[in-house]
Amino acid sequence: MDLYTEGDPIADTRAPDGPIETRWERRRFEAKLVNPANRRKMTVIVVGTGLAGGSAAATLAEQGYQVKSYCYQDSPRRAHSIAAQGGINAAKNYRNDGDSVHRLFYDTVKGGDFRSRESNVHRLAEVSVNIIDQCVAQGVPFAREYGGLLDTRSFGGAQVQRTFYARGQTGQQLLLGAYQALERQIGLGNVEMNARHEMLELIIVDGKARGIVVRDLVTGEITTEFADAVVLASGGYGNVFYLSTNAKGCNVTATWRAHRKGAYFANPCYTQIHPTCIPVSGDHQSKLTLMSESLRNDGRVWVPKAKGDNRKPKDIPEDERDYYLERIYPSFGNLVPRDIASRAAKNVCDEGRGVGPGGLGVYLDFADAITRLGRKAIEAKYGNLFEMYERITGEDPYEVPMRIYPAVHYTMGGLWVDYDLQSTIPGLFVIGEANFSDHGANRLGASALMQGLADGYFVLPNTVANYLAAGPFEKVEASHPAAVEARRDVEDRIQRLLAVNGDRTVDSFHRELGQIMWEHCGIERSEAGLRKAIDEIRALRAEFWQRVRIIGDADGLNQSLEKAGRVADFFELAELMCIDALHREESCGGHFRAEHQTPDGEAQRDDERFAYVAAWEYGAEQPVLHKEDLKFEYVHPTQRSYK
Ligand SMILES: Cc1cc2nc3c(=O)[nH]c(=O)nc-3n(C[C@H](O)[C@H](O)[C@H](O)COP(=O)(O)OP(=O)(O)OC[C@H]3O[C@@H](n4cnc5c(N)ncnc54)[C@H](O)[C@@H]3O)c2cc1C
Repeated sequence: MDLYTEGDPIADTRAPDGPIETRWERRRFEAKLVNPANRRKMTVIVVGTGLAGGSAAATLAEQGYQVKSYCYQDSPRRAHSIAAQGGINAAKNYRNDGDSVHRLFYDTVKGGDFRSRESNVHRLAEVSVNIIDQCVAQGVPFAREYGGLLDTRSFGGAQVQRTFYARGQTGQQLLLGAYQALERQIGLGNVEMNARHEMLELIIVDGKARGIVVRDLVTGEITTEFADAVVLASGGYGNVFYLSTNAKGCNVTATWRAHRKGAYFANPCYTQIHPTCIPVSGDHQSKLTLMSESLRNDGRVWVPKAKGDNRKPKDIPEDERDYYLERIYPSFGNLVPRDIASRAAKNVCDEGRGVGPGGLGVYLDFADAITRLGRKAIEAKYGNLFEMYERITGEDPYEVPMRIYPAVHYTMGGLWVDYDLQSTIPGLFVIGEANFSDHGANRLGASALMQGLADGYFVLPNTVANYLAAGPFEKVEASHPAAVEARRDVEDRIQRLLAVNGDRTVDSFHRELGQIMWEHCGIERSEAGLRKAIDEIRALRAEFWQRVRIIGDADGLNQSLEKAGRVADFFELAELMCIDALHREESCGGHFRAEHQTPDGEAQRDDERFAYVAAWEYGAEQPVLHKEDLKFEYVHPTQRSYK
């Protein structure tokens, strides 16, 4: 293809071999340790205070390292993780319904459409059981059943009930747990917390990540910060689509800046479109709202059987309704994975059977569950979600079915990391949604919280020691040429943005970029569409650098300047996402290429040619593709079926 070049293959040299159940234990045993007296002498920078970064910073400090923590919010506990609603998976098998570490491993590899690493996923399933114990010990108020045991519910892509939850606020409760652990360490003086600071550049000295450049978002001051290792826990990049369920601040800057400095970016095109979001209601909107997947435990998804049937839902008799997920996928029904449910919703809407304004919606109906369980039981499980829905739409979901439609929600792609969660830059570790590691081409519901906390509480604190055992490294001063250059780059870039002084707002560019991405790199992609998108993105980016208007200056709080820097990075990422989507001539998980589908419209993988992780190296002219082959010894790739 004319858009990239191909480089050498890449391998995960940290991944142990041998029986899969023993690999993590072996890696932990073989990894070097740092003795407690030496830990005090070493500093780790952690960018991000969500579930991944908050848990990592607290745990590293608890171990005795000096930690410097950064987030752009006014408080670490406002990280986007707080928005997570539905739950967190763990292979506890409290229900005695056939769950096990192996089953969670199997479901995740299959759910990711055989595009993730077996070793990583097995470790995730193993560690999942410890997470629940850790959080319960911290006092996280998980829902309990009548007898006092922890309650669980179902999530997509699984036939067991392994999802632990705290009503529809699981992320908030888990984050409060991590935040308290972090605060304890802040209080003890082991964590230096820097809220309202944005990382704008990575500092590399002698080939190692040794620091970051940050901007104080309140005063505008730019400083250089140093450490023995840097951890990025900066979340996902779904906001490249402008409209998404992510918090408005979510962005790609931290990982993109590291990418430009040499960290490979893996599988950027793998985006998760969540099937149950409140539909777009007009072009005034700046974000979309998720209705948690947990609702599909009790809600039934349907559309009218007849095209253009615009009667009120209650006037449509049972035999004129199409409960299409239950019909097409009888074994998993309403709980098929997200990629499958999203495409099915799009298909029925494309057939003209969608409901609500513009025909872009399907019903999620609780009438049966309310009759069966009573309104009180539904209120107890989902009350806050129902209230949120009513406030936004003005409709009472206890009385009329919710209307939902797919929306961008999560990004499986991210910086490439090895089994130790280390990127291609030594000393730069990446955790949580910011890395690409465990979910392949489609993440199962309730597995992001699991991965973020697995990385932060259990994996990174072990693997980072292996790297730090060679430290402490020589001290770096702010006068070091690498630090001076990184800082100057940040200052120049801010001045370049301000100097444009054009006539279009940052948001108008971001919205237009999002429209291009949604149309051509969203639920369905095609060669012609992706090529068109690349041309349009390039043209829009050129216009951005000529016409963007940023009000105010760099010497204080300036949200328009903050947004401009993030949107500038989104432009570059968007192009790479389209190139990645274009080169992957197959459909897998959330990456659905119109040209590659089975006769009944399911994703058609090409394991011969594409069973690899696409790790992209930054190139000033063109990106360079490095392939990491995926091997499947335990879960053999088959056509994924939920029928
Ligand atoms: C509405 C919604 C509901 C969800 N529900 C669930 C669920 O029920 N179960 C589930 O498993 N998953 C769920 N998810 C997904 C899950 O919430 C996220 O994947 C996860 O919380 C990400 O955690 P994180 O720690 O990696 O990043 P985040 O929580 O996004 O935190 C990122 C942190 O990085 C900081 N940061 C970023 N860039 C910079 C920078 N340049 N400089 C300084 N700081 C920076 C931010 O300030 C923040 O502190 C949901 C997602 C959404 C959008």
